Amino acid sequence: MRTADVVIIGGGIVGSSVAYHLTAAGCRNVLVIERESSQEKGSTGKSMGGVRAQFSTPVNIQMSLYSIPFYASFEEQLGHPCGYRAQGYLFCATTEKHMAYLGTNHETQVRLGLKDARLISAEEIASTFPQLRSDDIVGGAFCSSDGFVDPYSAMNGFMACAIERAAEIWKNAVVTGIQRDAHGITEIETSKGPISARVAVNCAGAWAAEIAEMAGVNLPVEPLRRMLVPTEPFDQFPHGAPMIIDMSNGFHFRPEARGFLLAWNDPEETPGYKTEFESSFIEKILTRAADRVPMFENLAVNPKRAWAGLYEMTPDHHAILGPVAEVPGFFLANGFSGHGVMHAPATGRILSDLILHGGTNLIDASGLDLERFAEGRMIEETAML
Ligand SMILES: Cc1cc2nc3c(=O)[nH]c(=O)nc-3n(C[C@H](O)[C@H](O)[C@H](O)COP(=O)(O)OP(=O)(O)OC[C@H]3O[C@@H](n4cnc5c(N)ncnc54)[C@H](O)[C@@H]3O)c2cc1C
Repeated sequence: MRTADVVIIGGGIVGSSVAYHLTAAGCRNVLVIERESSQEKGSTGKSMGGVRAQFSTPVNIQMSLYSIPFYASFEEQLGHPCGYRAQGYLFCATTEKHMAYLGTNHETQVRLGLKDARLISAEEIASTFPQLRSDDIVGGAFCSSDGFVDPYSAMNGFMACAIERAAEIWKNAVVTGIQRDAHGITEIETSKGPISARVAVNCAGAWAAEIAEMAGVNLPVEPLRRMLVPTEPFDQFPHGAPMIIDMSNGFHFRPEARGFLLAWNDPEETPGYKTEFESSFIEKILTRAADRVPMFENLAVNPKRAWAGLYEMTPDHHAILGPVAEVPGFFLANGFSGHGVMHAPATGRILSDLILHGGTNLIDASGLDLERFAEGRMIEETAML
């Protein structure tokens, strides 16, 4: 039977980062199991690629404080590009309540060491982006090191480096079962045969609850559809613009190729494995786009190029990271609630430290344990997009 020191279930950006960090730390017999024929078919290939440190909770800010500089030096360190562009995130507040919220978050971010974030005035927003309707904007927050990466390239870079260090990936291989004995994990069953392993990491994205169930673990991760609409080429809005977020309704957009990528979290969306794009979404999002950027009334979109993917939601919108107390050897890297690309570097490092050394000094991620739900220690993230 094939043996592995660590089996990683799921070859998206999170599984790839865990594989990279484990092999970088000297762990050699790492096997990644991916059920699809290529690794980007899960959420990673559907992502908007936004990376930001402008969160509200210390742990999410700290995850970004490791991850964004990591992306900034990705090519230098790994020898592969990740497409990081430090174009920033600009939150536009339309109520004093929003502004107070941004102010509180900013204080936390600065206290934790974020140097590139600042609050900005309504006047500065209006003069920098006169294309925005700014009559109701009362101010905002901007962080210049926030920006975008190319999730596909980052995932491939992580995995290519892991493979250079002797990790292996099985594609078209479905994990179908997890065997355990009194001491913990013993075997991972796959459509390509069983693997004898004492350590397995659940990196199965929106499908993570199914994998956890195979190990007898109840994991509160739910799939939630998110849709993105790319526009046709449009050159009347600057392409050096940041991710711009309209806090009045959550509409946000960023430059993409010669056009823009439009996003909005439809509050009517319900959980489920829905991955088809719904054409009625186009009108909903274009209405919000034109409301904030009047010239976007002339935007051309081709519905055939729009797509849908799955967020992997947890009840408190924070990831679930670390070992499962009652199943020794079973580790979780799940539930990123839409932040898995930006937090993949920190996640890989934390999981590698926990697996190889039983602890991590990167950040205090102990509050992201699975047990927090049963023990009433949830940590709500409100800066959701
Ligand atoms: C529209 C959209 C926009 C987003 N925008 C952003 C953003 O701007 N910034 C950001 O940080 N995040 C964003 N996200 C979220 C981000 O894409 C995810 O958090 C991230 O990709 C999760 O990575 P992952 O590796 O955990 O999951 P995935 O990429 O989904 O990988 C999980 C893998 O597990 C495999 N798998 C599942 N079950 C099995 C099985 N039984 N056996 C073997 N393999 C299995 C799947 O095939 C899949 O490849 C967005 C998501 C969507 C849908």
